Amino acid sequence: MPTSEPVLVCDDVSKTFVTGSPGFGRSRVSAVHRVSLTVAPGESLGIVGESGCGKTTLARMLVGLERPDTGSIRLGGRDVTSARGRERRALSREVQMVFQDPYTSLNPRMTVLDLVSEPLVVHGLHRVADERRERVAELLGSVGLSPDMMSRYPHQFSGGQRQRIGIARAIALEPSVLVCDEPVSALDVSVQAQVVNVLRGLQERLGLAIVFIAHDLGVVRHMADRTAVMYLGSVVEDADSATLFERPTHPYTQTLLSASPRMDRSRRALGERRAPLGEPPSPTNPPPGCRFHTRCPLATDVCRTERPPLRPRESGGAVACHHAEEAVGAVV
Ligand code: SF4
Repeated sequence: MPTSEPVLVCDDVSKTFVTGSPGFGRSRVSAVHRVSLTVAPGESLGIVGESGCGKTTLARMLVGLERPDTGSIRLGGRDVTSARGRERRALSREVQMVFQDPYTSLNPRMTVLDLVSEPLVVHGLHRVADERRERVAELLGSVGLSPDMMSRYPHQFSGGQRQRIGIARAIALEPSVLVCDEPVSALDVSVQAQVVNVLRGLQERLGLAIVFIAHDLGVVRHMADRTAVMYLGSVVEDADSATLFERPTHPYTQTLLSASPRMDRSRRALGERRAPLGEPPSPTNPPPGCRFHTRCPLATDVCRTERPPLRPRESGGAVACHHAEEAVGAVV
């Protein structure tokens, strides 16, 4: 189990997008709101939540594809958000991303050799062609693909194999953190477990920290040592996965788990399946106070005006709820 200082620290990070165009009305979308998270070396952190809750924006900020408006992201103690030039380039090697769709994330005109060696070329590593080829063979082997496949093109592979190629490419620079944004959601259920096992194996062998974003709670439970639940841009609960899935505290976590058929089978004792009440509010006009108060059966006056901070919970982890003590088992 991970024991050392966090390799990745996300401190009070927010991101708002302006949408629309002048003359047709503009709106501000609060995609990520005051998120703080840490990931230890060799740890896997799952991030779950409904579609549009800010998971992908957070992932893109973690790998530097978006800049936070406020807050900071530190990798190995160095501030990524303020890094420029050579320092930023060096830091970019430390965190890499595996994308959701293996069908569109690989250039169809490039061979596997070119695809996997591209990051090495960009960063000036393994400059000699034979050495580069050897390194690509090693990377393909580490994700369970035969080095004989390196002269083929992406269309000659299945979805699961393509995602393995994407993973081989992502680990080529030996990052300390891998951010995986819905890495198995485009795959058949039968191959999802194989790809998750590849990631698990790399985590153990290379001591990789993994941020694993998914909407399938069963997959996250299998993959993640710890899980954070996001609602409308904010983290509402963060705990080790066994505790969070067996004894969810936040009312939103309870309804989210209850609404998932796969999770519900193992949690019958918590009662009837129930989806969160009504539609989520628009991120262009998030509710004041606790952002979940418009759907929460336990909401009181304080919930409508004061934002609950993430506080340590009795059974471990942290939860953002004014009524956390009464909430356990009270919603479903
Ligand atoms: Fe519900 Fe209030 Fe807790 Fe928010 S703070 S989850 S509204 S009880």
